[in-house]
Amino acid sequence: MDKFYIGSHVDNKAPDFVLGSVKEALSYGANALMFYTGAPQNSFRRPVSELKGKEALELLKENNILLSNVVVHAPYFINLANVTKPEIFEFSLKALIDEINRVAALGYFKLVLHPGSHVKAGAELGIEQLIKGLNLAIAATKECKVRILIETMAGKGSEIGITLEQVHQIISGVEDKDRIGVCLDTCHLSDAGYDINDTEGMVKMLDEIIGLANIYAIHINDSKNPRGAHKDRHENIGYGFIGFEALSRFAHHEAFNDIPKILETPYINEKAPYKDEIAALRCNIFNSSLK
Ligand code: FE
Ligand code: FE
Ligand code: ZN
Repeated sequence: MDKFYIGSHVDNKAPDFVLGSVKEALSYGANALMFYTGAPQNSFRRPVSELKGKEALELLKENNILLSNVVVHAPYFINLANVTKPEIFEFSLKALIDEINRVAALGYFKLVLHPGSHVKAGAELGIEQLIKGLNLAIAATKECKVRILIETMAGKGSEIGITLEQVHQIISGVEDKDRIGVCLDTCHLSDAGYDINDTEGMVKMLDEIIGLANIYAIHINDSKNPRGAHKDRHENIGYGFIGFEALSRFAHHEAFNDIPKILETPYINEKAPYKDEIAALRCNIFNSSLK
């Protein structure tokens, strides 16, 4: 079986919802995918029973797509690192618990979460608060096998989880190790100052600081900005400052063999570029005619 697991972010919308997400992924030739359980920006969520979850699982099975290659992304408004406004922490905690339950009900077990922003309280306090929230959310969802994957961030505004040390600190603070892990994002790593082009150096550093076994998903994105820019603006694969070769080499590294790689690159002329980008990465040949 093909050991290179690659896919993209896909829609989850009427009328087919998660079944539609799987269909969209298949149309790109993907063997991995990521979706949101509703609009990432707001808290409106349709009941899971309406999302065609069972049909989605059947279609995945028919196409030999492993459940470990299906990633759900938590909504953006969750901010467990907010120390100054207890109501935001409480609201975020409830939203995360709901989201974990939704992911479990749909039959999946990987949930990517942005670590959040400390606003003005400083990273240390923000991280402490996030760890507290993660432990509470995990304790409130004991029956769920869902693993929360902390995404590495670009360092925009007052984000936490920018350095690998911070990400390690966060996962170390979570008591139930079966429920926590990491999702890398190549655009964010580069924006945070890391050199994706130095593949071996990167893999070594990831292993030393985070531990390769703690990585469960990787977002593969190029960056519109040079290394260390802290901007978080994704670019199509090979059209940004990281470049095709560096991204492809990173994605194909044997250390990441069993890990789903997910594209979150921008649409080109209102069209998803994922079929072409997946093909290019799979055969390791840059497609220079995308834009
Ligand atoms: Fe993300
Ligand atoms: Fe990402
Ligand atoms: Zn991003």
